[in-house]
Amino acid sequence: MTNEFDLVVIGAGSGGVRAARMAAGHGARVAIVEKRFFGGTCVNVGCVPKKLFSYGAHFPDEFALAEDYGYSIAGWKFDWATLRENKTREIARLNGIYRRILDQAGVTIFEGHGRVEAPGQVSVDGNILTTDKILLAVGGKPFVPSFPGNEHVKISDDLFYLEELPKQVAVVGGGYIATEFAGILHGLGCEVTQIYRGDLFLRGFDGDIREFVAEQMAEQGINLRFNTDVDRIEESEGRKRVFTNSGEQLEFDDVFYATGRIPYLDNLFSADATPSLGKNGAIQVDEHYQTSIDGVYALGDVIDRLQLTPVALAEGMWLAAHLFGKAKPSGPLDYRNIATAVFSHPNIGTVGMTQEEALATIGAIRVFKSSFRPMRYTLGDRQVRSMIKLIVDDSTDKVLGLHIAGEDAAEITQGFAVAIKMGATKADFDATVGIHPTAAEELVTMR
Ligand code: FAD
Ligand code: NDP
Repeated sequence: MTNEFDLVVIGAGSGGVRAARMAAGHGARVAIVEKRFFGGTCVNVGCVPKKLFSYGAHFPDEFALAEDYGYSIAGWKFDWATLRENKTREIARLNGIYRRILDQAGVTIFEGHGRVEAPGQVSVDGNILTTDKILLAVGGKPFVPSFPGNEHVKISDDLFYLEELPKQVAVVGGGYIATEFAGILHGLGCEVTQIYRGDLFLRGFDGDIREFVAEQMAEQGINLRFNTDVDRIEESEGRKRVFTNSGEQLEFDDVFYATGRIPYLDNLFSADATPSLGKNGAIQVDEHYQTSIDGVYALGDVIDRLQLTPVALAEGMWLAAHLFGKAKPSGPLDYRNIATAVFSHPNIGTVGMTQEEALATIGAIRVFKSSFRPMRYTLGDRQVRSMIKLIVDDSTDKVLGLHIAGEDAAEITQGFAVAIKMGATKADFDATVGIHPTAAEELVTMR
């Protein structure tokens, strides 16, 4: 086997696999180094198992709804071990697929810890590879703040392999992961308290949507404690006692921390091959993903732009074409209007500006907002609702932002994201005849 390559990629996650595969497709001699799991965070301890658990967590609601439609679902049981093991089997299948994709693309796989020894030189557990270019696609890892007793907390990686589900659980954080897992754990039958340090969780999302999701989660029975910080945690007989900044003591079987992720730089560079790092230790790159070291590139979560799988994939594809393609990309990757979803219960789908951003940057805007009870729930008493919002530039009529919270929000947003990316106006939305009866038709009928 040769140890000389055009490109050595460290990290076989979303960005690394895509870049390696595309670069090999452009004719480059490519190697990839992976130390933990093929497919990276998304496939193993992120998007995929999270979404499977989210599906699983919806069944009790569906059973309750089924009663309104005349079905008797009395006596149903849930077995956590079945869900966990079925998920683990599916992930193992996907790991195999990722390996095969790399093999079939002609990428040489090295299993072990990759380290940049010098420009053009990567070691894999002592074995030296020489290469023209190096790509760092090492992703991130969970960040837990330091405070007394933080050794008693669990992180998102642990959630996917719990021996047993806790009866009472705290989820600390107010971002994507904490809010998604508060919904998942509640749906699976845990008594959930979500603890967030600020006034309202999901900072950065549209204000009305944040408030709406908080109301809906509280209505479901999730205990939301905002303006609360954890001072310390003590453990006794398997229970965790949380001391809050307001002097309260709360007890749980488990405390999960989802307080952000930081770049995974552990033993990644030798002293004289360390690129410049920026905010939160992220590797600094220019618009071509070039680091401060010639021939060393970085992309995905480790560069602290948008920490999303489709973004890492797009960056990987862009870079492979830029470095090795016959047809080079016409310009840098466009990060505007990237749609995203939070798989909370209810889901959030969002693309473009929030009302707050639009007011601050554009000023004159029109806001269209509607909150309604989806037809599916009208046969019973439960107050399950959806909210949709459009933010429109008053002078150009362009739709600047679209925000949905409620059933199928992520699926609906994906379709509308194309229209928004193309610069659709409110008049274009109005000229679109709706599909009835759907929740999505509300987006083209708001006047
Ligand atoms: P990663 O996928 O993290 O891959 C990096 C790889 O590098 C890993 O396999 C790691 O083992 C390997 N590695 C690191 N250091 C070395 C080394 N020195 N040598 C060899 N190998 C190394 N995004 C979405 O778009 N949608 C979602 O629904 C979603 N849900 C998420 C849920 C959770 C719980 C989490 C944690 C993340 C979620 N994300 C989601 C984010 C998404 O997973 C990341 O944005 C994406 O995986 C980033 O890809 P990457 O290639 O940059 O890094
Ligand atoms: P986020 O950055 O989304 O949220 C971190 C949360 O932790 C924020 O509420 C933040 O509060 C809080 N926080 C940060 N530091 C502290 C601290 N010291 N003490 C108390 N609270 C703190 O990170 P996540 O871990 O939830 O997720 C990481 C990234 O993974 C996401 O940003 C997203 O890009 C990606 N992801 C995407 C998903 C999707 O696409 N559906 C799902 C899951 C993850 P504050 O807001 O006040 O700063």
